[in-house]
Amino acid sequence: KRLFAGVDLGGTNFTVGFGDASGQLVAEEKQPTASHEGPAAVVERIADTIDRLAARAGQRPAAVGLGVPGLVDVPTGVTRFLPNLPTQWRDVHVGANLSARLKCPVYLLNDARAATLGEFMFGHGRDVQSMILFTLGTGVGGGVVIDGQLRLGPLGAAGELGHICVQPDGPWCSCGSQGCLETLVSGPALTAEGIRLLLSGNAPRLHELCAGDVARVSCELMGAAARAGDPGVQAALDRAGSYLGQVAAGVVLTLHPELIVLGGGVAALDDLLIVPLRRTLLQRVKMFPPDDIRILRSQLGTRAGVLGGLAVAVQGGVRRA
Ligand code: BGC
Ligand code: ZN
Repeated sequence: KRLFAGVDLGGTNFTVGFGDASGQLVAEEKQPTASHEGPAAVVERIADTIDRLAARAGQRPAAVGLGVPGLVDVPTGVTRFLPNLPTQWRDVHVGANLSARLKCPVYLLNDARAATLGEFMFGHGRDVQSMILFTLGTGVGGGVVIDGQLRLGPLGAAGELGHICVQPDGPWCSCGSQGCLETLVSGPALTAEGIRLLLSGNAPRLHELCAGDVARVSCELMGAAARAGDPGVQAALDRAGSYLGQVAAGVVLTLHPELIVLGGGVAALDDLLIVPLRRTLLQRVKMFPPDDIRILRSQLGTRAGVLGGLAVAVQGGVRRA
């Protein structure tokens, strides 16, 4: 059986998975990205990791699919604008470099588009023809599948749901705009909000759970605080979910997908985000009832990106649709 590698390169960590054409992973490894070390060093570490997994699997990968956290020129495998990585990551021939080093084809695409493809092929999307997915992590990404095809647009930029504005005077965003969804629902944005609540004395349960230590505030702990009845944290997560709902409403009115999926680490908040998301969607979409649209946490979890990379490797690249 031929094996392929899928790589999910994030601002914080990268994960490499080795698996077959059916999406069955046989080996997996996660490493810190340490993006400040520069693209050459990180690409070399990705290659080393692939070598190690290949040795463990007893087979070289037939091809590699790599998701990167931003815009990439899909046909050439050259990175363009990666908002949450240092600027030295711009215009790097990651595809060609990695391919020369590994001596196999390497296909690049955006990380969230990869996660969308992974979920579409191997997760909750298996039985639908149209879906959208949000990845909620260091950044907020998105992807759109319509009529069974991942939509890329001319630049591979179609589906950048994280940079839709939901608060005109909101915080400045890594992309240069203001009040993007990413500035309000990313992991760092939610954690910062948790810390603000803690310091202003408006998060009693969170205060107990982190023993008053701001360094321990995380989305996970905020979820626990909300479930323990912390009104401040509950309100903050409710707001985050309804920002997602606001963007989802716009996309639903444009494309009417059958399924909306939340992926990335922050999606572990699950119903704490999904309930307000659905409420806002129902509030905002009145032209037709959107209540047949399923809203689910990713079935593949944080593996969606790796499995999407794997799918691209299996398909021999992302086909333009
Ligand atoms: C970028 C997206 C990326 C997402 C997750 C966003 O800031 O604009 O392209 O998919 O972060 O990494
Ligand atoms: Zn933005």
